[in-house]
Amino acid sequence: MQLNFHGLRALVTGAGKGIGRDTVKALHALRARVVAVSRTNANLVSLSKQCPGIELVCVDLGDWEATEQALGSVGPMDLLVNNAAVALTYPFLETTKEVFDRSFNVNLHSVFQVSQIVAQGMINRGVPGSIVNVSSMVAHVTYPNLAAYSSTKGGMTMLTKAMAMELGPYKIRVNSVNPTVVLTAMGQHVTTDPEFVRKLKERHPLRKFAEVEDVVNSILFLLSNLSASTSGSGILVDAGYLAS
Ligand code: NDP
Repeated sequence: MQLNFHGLRALVTGAGKGIGRDTVKALHALRARVVAVSRTNANLVSLSKQCPGIELVCVDLGDWEATEQALGSVGPMDLLVNNAAVALTYPFLETTKEVFDRSFNVNLHSVFQVSQIVAQGMINRGVPGSIVNVSSMVAHVTYPNLAAYSSTKGGMTMLTKAMAMELGPYKIRVNSVNPTVVLTAMGQHVTTDPEFVRKLKERHPLRKFAEVEDVVNSILFLLSNLSASTSGSGILVDAGYLAS
């Protein structure tokens, strides 16, 4: 079945690079009206050249007040992809308050805040909606030097379920995608040791990491009516890692 988001408005956070950028491109190609939110304006400007007509919002989602100002009146939305995140890599014992706070502000507080804004708009208009939280397999398993990051993704698992429970009566579905390593800028930052990478890949039943396209396809599925009875759930895009 061919997906088509014609007539729907979609907000994607972390749209400047990686998974968020390709999600915007896919939604634009499938005729959604996209609002692309990210931190670095140059990345948004280059994206808008590839996707004419998209709206751009440049904001640091780790700043609650700035986010309220930038997105508080973003207008009607049907689809939301909470994708922006930072992966700050520190051993547990060296993780400072600043690292912990920044990780939670960008990766989880902003998901709360943007989802509240978007969901309230859906409820006020009485329209159904779909929200996808981009989580990680590290919501379920450990990974070196990612205690703060993994904690944000573990929190996202419960937030996804809580939102699904409270927003379900308004016909708003909420799900997550949980990828293994994807070699974006973030993925490269957490895989600098070749020997570690070799061993990690070997532990994946499919002997590979995930591609950006694999993650985007799962996001599109969860946004679309193809997943009409799925809510509070998570799709592992982990090359089988959690089964190993
Ligand atoms: P990238 O680092 O490649 O891109 C992240 C995007 O988010 C960038 O455009 C970045 O902006 C934006 N962003 C980061 N912080 C903020 C902020 N404070 N305010 C606004 N925008 C911000 O990451 P990926 O594409 O790899 O990751 C996307 C999602 O996938 C994340 O939720 C991540 O946790 C998840 N994920 C990634 C994996 C991987 O291995 N790559 C594995 C599992 C999950 P800017 O343009 O300024 O850099």
